[in-house]
Amino acid sequence: MVTKDFTVLVTGGAGYIGSHAVLALLDSGYDVVVLDNLTTGFLRAVPDQAIFIEGDIEDSTLSARLIAEHGIGAIMHFAGSIIVPESVENPLKYYHNNSAKSRTLIETAVTNGVKHFIFSSTATVYGVTGLMQIPEDTPKHPTNPYGMSKLMTEAMLTDVATAYDFNFCALRYFNVAGADPKGRSGQSTQGATHLIKVAVEAVLGKRDGVAIFGTDYDTHDGTGTRDYIHVSDLVAAHVLALEKLVEDPETSHIMNCGYGQGFSVNDVLDAVDRVTNKKIHRVIQGRRAGDPDSLVSDNRLIKQTLPWQPKYADLDVIVAHALAWERKL
Ligand code: UDP
Repeated sequence: MVTKDFTVLVTGGAGYIGSHAVLALLDSGYDVVVLDNLTTGFLRAVPDQAIFIEGDIEDSTLSARLIAEHGIGAIMHFAGSIIVPESVENPLKYYHNNSAKSRTLIETAVTNGVKHFIFSSTATVYGVTGLMQIPEDTPKHPTNPYGMSKLMTEAMLTDVATAYDFNFCALRYFNVAGADPKGRSGQSTQGATHLIKVAVEAVLGKRDGVAIFGTDYDTHDGTGTRDYIHVSDLVAAHVLALEKLVEDPETSHIMNCGYGQGFSVNDVLDAVDRVTNKKIHRVIQGRRAGDPDSLVSDNRLIKQTLPWQPKYADLDVIVAHALAWERKL
């Protein structure tokens, strides 16, 4: 059993994934400080048991003070920009928010004695691979600045862990969806573009239907295939990764985080129909620029490294939890 004799700093803890990580840490007995600039996050997403500080990770004086005042022993870093098309239009925003600010935060961690760091990376680092399942050692060719900005941070962490008494775990997320099963948090983003979020909005009449972006992909039914992972399983992996970093401070990890199972757009919409017992209106459209046919993880490494037992690896459960949250919004 790991002794929880330190507090965890969660950057971006008012956002979708960050707020679920805060819940998972609190549920595991950690004290948590959230640092978030609230540009995309919501204060109401931060549980009362966590200390909330409004501020930016670029402000190293602030982060250094938080580390000293709260006995921060580990950082979970979720703060960043995440919209792929925006990263193509405004790459410097992404290299600033995701790469440069991460560099500042990592430096603040190292100079103030924080030894463990968990980083939210993305499957977007791989680009188009043509593989059925993507292992971590696949060559990385991100097709947009978002993916490259995350890959650059992975590279910084790797070099810093070699040079200093510091270890890290970067988790490359596949398609994160769903919401806290107890209804404490969920995805609140306005103008969301992600399929499951869009579909549950359509179920509740917030949209007319769901557009299917392309039916001529090289997949079992021609629609794009993704590895959808429940946000609560994803954040559970972060807590286990933190325990691993503490147990074995000499080793760092870069691992995929997905179920290793692909579902097409039609599979997802079929699940929505099953869960709601209705037929969602589907509108076939052309491909969306930049979308690969299929993105599915090879998840053997995380399964070998962590005692990770996903609890919600079921598309209908993911959709049901996303829908329950959408109803609450
Ligand atoms: N997609 C779709 N209609 C939508 C949103 C997404 O057909 O309204 C498809 C998209 O082309 C991709 C899959 O659903 O094949 C997942 O897209 P999403 O935007 O959820 O995540 P991404 O994989 O792009 O990060």
